[in-house]
Amino acid sequence: MNAHPQRIALVVPVYNEAGLIARSLPEILARAREAAPGSPVDLIAVDDGSNDGSRASLAALSEQDPAIHFLSFTRNFGKEAAIHAGLVQAVEHTDAAAVIVIDADLQHPPELMGQMLQHWRDGAKVVEAVKVARGDEGALRGLAARAFYSAFTRMSGLRLDQDTDYKLLDREVVLTALQLGERARFFRGIVRWLGFPTVQVPFVVAPRAGGSTNWSLRSLARYAWRNLTSFSSAPLGLVTTFGAVGLVVGGVLAVKAIVDKLQGVALSGFSTVILLQVIFSSLILLSLGIIGSYIALIYDEIKGRPHYIIRPGDMTGARQPVAAKPEQANVST
Ligand code: UDP
Ligand code: MG
Repeated sequence: MNAHPQRIALVVPVYNEAGLIARSLPEILARAREAAPGSPVDLIAVDDGSNDGSRASLAALSEQDPAIHFLSFTRNFGKEAAIHAGLVQAVEHTDAAAVIVIDADLQHPPELMGQMLQHWRDGAKVVEAVKVARGDEGALRGLAARAFYSAFTRMSGLRLDQDTDYKLLDREVVLTALQLGERARFFRGIVRWLGFPTVQVPFVVAPRAGGSTNWSLRSLARYAWRNLTSFSSAPLGLVTTFGAVGLVVGGVLAVKAIVDKLQGVALSGFSTVILLQVIFSSLILLSLGIIGSYIALIYDEIKGRPHYIIRPGDMTGARQPVAAKPEQANVST
């Protein structure tokens, strides 16, 4: 598009994909090069503590093509951590103008990169690839995913169904995202939360090109809960609701116990027991709810997200408002 083609970085999280990456990474890189003619393209693979020879395979790949770089975690830290490390690598060690995050298993069609880059050149800061159909998931997994997304949407106000980690991010978006000091990270949620001008590109999820998914249902459930709680303190509010409901039910029971007592139909001592039971359990739940709401406040404070993010180009002379002056940004790390 101009005399100085801008560098593109691909970030690929890899966990136990030895059978696959020798084929998939060169393919992803080749597609990216086709999509960005003249631009230098780097592929940054992040080996998330694989124990199946993925690392050796990555080493061989980077020998063959110096545009392939990799770093390895000491152990499996999870895809979120791998993406984070890749983004840091892309903006701190290359001058990439755009970063594309893509899975190693070819479930994110590399052909889409042409379209994504075009939207970016047309001004989008974020281009998200969204699923139009869920791929080879079992019924249970699809159900679990749907339940998670609908709960997430309701509690966090972010619409994440159909969303994937397959995204193109402008350098500015990456720098801004990296300024958020949170330890519990949810890549898709954060990108959406930042609110940069976004374009969506639909795609049909392909079946895995080989190997098998590294997510067990258990790890998926843990992931879902962590991401929900890292984006919303609504579950804490449930305690208050339980307490309030308990108080109402308890009130009814208490009246009944007193009436029974007055009518002389209550067992001796029973009224005292049930009254104590009802009053104190409701009070305990309500107190927990109140404490919970303060924990929620602490939680939001401690995340230390900036109060706002300025639109790109809306502040004269500051191309990266948050990232350019980290010491002044309203961010704690
Ligand atoms: N992955 C990772 N760390 C993990 C699990 C997965 O880096 O702990 C990578 C994996 O190698 C792949 C991508 O994340 O490139 C998506 O993983 P997978 O295909 O297993 O998940 P799914 O497609 O079912 O979401
Ligand atoms: Mg996959």
